[in-house]
Amino acid sequence: MIGNKFGFWKMGLATMALSFVLWPFWPLNSVFLRAETKSSLSPVGFEERLLATASGDRLHLFARRFQPGELILARLEPGNKIIGAWIGLNQHRYQFLKILAENPEYIAFISLDATAEPGDVLFRLTIVRPDKTWEASELMVKMEAKEYRKRKIQVAPEYVQPPTEVQERIEREAELLRAIFSVVSPSWLGDGPFLLPHHGKLSAYFGDQRVYNERVSSFHNGVDIIASWGEPVRAANSGRVVAASSFYFSGKMVVIDHGLGLFTSYNHLSRLLVRRGQEVKRGEIIGLVGSSGLSTGAHLHWSARIATARVDPLSLLALPFPVRTASNSQRK
Ligand SMILES: [Zn+2]
Repeated sequence: MIGNKFGFWKMGLATMALSFVLWPFWPLNSVFLRAETKSSLSPVGFEERLLATASGDRLHLFARRFQPGELILARLEPGNKIIGAWIGLNQHRYQFLKILAENPEYIAFISLDATAEPGDVLFRLTIVRPDKTWEASELMVKMEAKEYRKRKIQVAPEYVQPPTEVQERIEREAELLRAIFSVVSPSWLGDGPFLLPHHGKLSAYFGDQRVYNERVSSFHNGVDIIASWGEPVRAANSGRVVAASSFYFSGKMVVIDHGLGLFTSYNHLSRLLVRRGQEVKRGEIIGLVGSSGLSTGAHLHWSARIATARVDPLSLLALPFPVRTASNSQRK
């Protein structure tokens, strides 16, 4: 049962090796531990909600916290053969996809946007069987309110009010990003847990409300990591580069598609070291720290999102993502 296998996180190191043997495709071994101990910024642990259907299917929802703006990793362990499954949440449908041919489990990434109302939220699970019959089950999850910080910042006027001659560029880039984020790659391109893309401390958090020049407020959609000019920036996980170019606000930016609708972005770089379409591995250097775009000094802005929601990238660090291939899971 998945639940038991996940329990080993809470039980500590001693049981890890055993779990590894029992569950070779989700080893979550020393790599994950390194991710957790690498920085005090990395939260330890996650919460779980479980739904067991009448037909013996088990739906597990994992999140660092059940709050808007946190990524929810949904894993479905079918009790009988299925040909499709999805979760309906508000107006959206989150499709489950099989992660490995040899593994019977399906996963999906879900999130409520950071500004969504907290409170009780209904997850509606639909499972379709080979004979085309379908079964619906529901799970009510209480989404807690999340507190955000408010900061006042003085910046150059063009940050608050971009000059009219760049409006067209800004709109074109926003449209391009919407198109990029709307494409759900139907497989898991990541490989195990997410890592911080740079070891620096944080200077700004996800959700910081910024009052620019006393008049305009905005929502910080990522974290700012303190870093020096020219230092390497690493892919937080494996995936495919879907953007590597210069944007008005974000400067030189790399966007990585990790599959199943999950993306991470790395902004204000001084140099891009990857090209669009390129496959990257977790930890691979993808660019150098800079201050391009609308930035007030060298730092790394790191963000994450799915099509329907802005996600706190730190919420990714806590979650038990699957290792992609069986060969990767062999402990040497
Ligand atoms: Zn930032």
